[in-house]
Amino acid sequence: MPREPRFDPLFQPLKIGPVTAPNRFYQVPHCTGMGFAMPETLAAMRKVKAEGGWGVVCTEYCSMDPGSDDHPAPYATIWDQGDVRNMAKVASGVHAHGALAGIELWHGGFRSANLLSRVTPLGPISQLTATTPVQSARMDLSDIREYRRAHKAAALRAREAGFDIIYVYAAHTYLLAQFLNRNINQRDDGYGGSLEGRIRLVRELLDETKEAVGDTCAVAIRMEVDDEVTPGSDPRGEKRFLLESIRDVVDLFDLTISDYYQEMGVSRFHRQGSLEAHIAEMKKLVGKPVVSVGRYTSPEAMLNLIKSGITDLVGAARPSIADPFIPNKIRDGRLDDIRECIGCNICYASDGQGVPLRCTQNPSMGEEWRRGWHPEIVPAAPKRERALVVGAGPAGLEAALTLGRQGHEVILAEASRELGGRLLAETKLPGLQEWIRVRDYRAHQLSKLDNVTIYRESRMSAADVLEIGADHVLIATGSHWRKSGSGRHHLAGEPSFADPRTLSPDEIMAGKRPAPGPIVIFDDEEYYMASALAEMLAKEGLQVVYVTGAGIVSAWSVKTAEQSLVQARLIECGVEIIVSHSVEALAPQEAELACVYTGRTRRLPCAGFIPVTSREPDDALWRELSAEPDRFHSLQRVGDCKAPGHIAIAVHDGHRAARELGQPVVVKRDRPLVDAAE
Ligand code: ADP
Ligand code: SF4
Repeated sequence: MPREPRFDPLFQPLKIGPVTAPNRFYQVPHCTGMGFAMPETLAAMRKVKAEGGWGVVCTEYCSMDPGSDDHPAPYATIWDQGDVRNMAKVASGVHAHGALAGIELWHGGFRSANLLSRVTPLGPISQLTATTPVQSARMDLSDIREYRRAHKAAALRAREAGFDIIYVYAAHTYLLAQFLNRNINQRDDGYGGSLEGRIRLVRELLDETKEAVGDTCAVAIRMEVDDEVTPGSDPRGEKRFLLESIRDVVDLFDLTISDYYQEMGVSRFHRQGSLEAHIAEMKKLVGKPVVSVGRYTSPEAMLNLIKSGITDLVGAARPSIADPFIPNKIRDGRLDDIRECIGCNICYASDGQGVPLRCTQNPSMGEEWRRGWHPEIVPAAPKRERALVVGAGPAGLEAALTLGRQGHEVILAEASRELGGRLLAETKLPGLQEWIRVRDYRAHQLSKLDNVTIYRESRMSAADVLEIGADHVLIATGSHWRKSGSGRHHLAGEPSFADPRTLSPDEIMAGKRPAPGPIVIFDDEEYYMASALAEMLAKEGLQVVYVTGAGIVSAWSVKTAEQSLVQARLIECGVEIIVSHSVEALAPQEAELACVYTGRTRRLPCAGFIPVTSREPDDALWRELSAEPDRFHSLQRVGDCKAPGHIAIAVHDGHRAARELGQPVVVKRDRPLVDAAE
């Protein structure tokens, strides 16, 4: 189907300095967890974005030389000719689909401890690095000269590798942002102190990059439009002054704000387009192409962005991860096929853990090269067979959809009336509504497949499954929260938790409430469930005490860039927070807590108790059927019924199980190899 003409503005080419973007879809630089160590994985992933129609595809932050490394975090490098060869594969893959390739040259300044190179970190001042108790050396004038030389050399290598847009990266608290920051940079050597002094290095780099590569490459700057010292505004007009002083030399402004927790905002706290007000103001001053982000998944919102002139390009990281094919789907009038990002930041968490990008919505993300998975194309099965999927949570839905796309005859049986499994209850928790997109996308896609039949309100017994006589059976029956307290702290559970006051998260989500009085929530899992329950109950006016063995609320969600927001929310809701303690036992009317360091105990009044510890796989059906191995070609359990985890894991497992059904499994390993010739 051709696109609706009203979307034409999104498909207008745009001249960016000496190059031209074919459309307005711009994948901004974003981390991947792949970096220089996984060049094939990286190149294949970026190539798929271009194939999906993104007119510009950028690298993640790319270290310009060994003078700044970000180990153990994964980052790209353009240090030498080896990197030129690797990064050329990224650029050529992007070019193969008619898109422009951008590269973000990076120096961490005093944020990075240079743990790999052991080169002394440099910064505008001598300051503690972000992760290690070591300080940077204050750059002297010769260091600044050397940095400028290295940046120019890196820009030349980037051009050699084939990149079209070269960034001067002056945001996100890295080196150039440190130079710009008036609280940090009080140097008295012409590179600090006054505003003119603080912006001098940025201007010099822009000039030198332009001079080195500007005849063929666009020069971009990534910068914040608000004042780092007073985030959210620019009361002194410093950013306005900066913009005005560099706009003659910049070909593209990639604008953001200094609050990273908003820029990278999870949907629990921030909605689509939250940066618009900030960017719109500055755009008026610029007179050059502007891109910015806002987790745009709605084609209408994208169109509005361009038509209203807030930006010239629709910047995206997460939406392009969740659906690399958004541009082509809009182009082809397939709006209902868009797989919208849910704003969970599991992608960001993967990078933080140093592993290739993964995505709750898009199971093929990071698997393009390793497993050869394409986000849109599922190869037809060699032979059409009958497959039964039991359970329509994230794992079962994804498995059924993938089997259906392979051409199998699929039956999806679900005990409830509604599809979605755990999503049904969890998306009613405060802020998690957008997560229902995991269900909605799959349910809608399934409705388009004639070869998939869905039976609702059909709780399957082993006899029912055997009666259907499918060739392949996938059991995706999920899991439930344990009430025993079994988890990290009490491996075997705690007998005193077998008490009428104990309610599981499932029971609370189903609407059950304890007797009036204080409710103690024990968060042993440390992701979103306990804090979301605490928020929900506190908002109902109940007295809630949140207890965790960690030193902070919802400790794992540091990785999803929401921990500080979660903790602030619980404080605002009046939840009493007790960290570094476990709930050891329940006593009459009380809960006994113990300090995880000293073992010292204390007691709290407790009328209700919610252990958020671990979950029990609901695998009874699978176990029963396992006794009849000869009745199927294959029987497997998938998702939480195999191993409970977060939703991304269930979706990936459902996809994997279906893709690998009857197919040879190839999982390639990306690694730098020794030189066999030496
Ligand atoms: P996952 O995250 O692994 O997809 P969920 O818990 O979200 O797991 O979903 C499991 C789904 O399986 C639920 O919708 C549940 O109603 C369904 N289910 C559980 N047991 C049966 C059964 N015997 N027959 C059909 N559906 C079942
Ligand atoms: Fe969006 Fe979550 Fe996927 Fe990241 S992991 S792109 S936030 S759906």
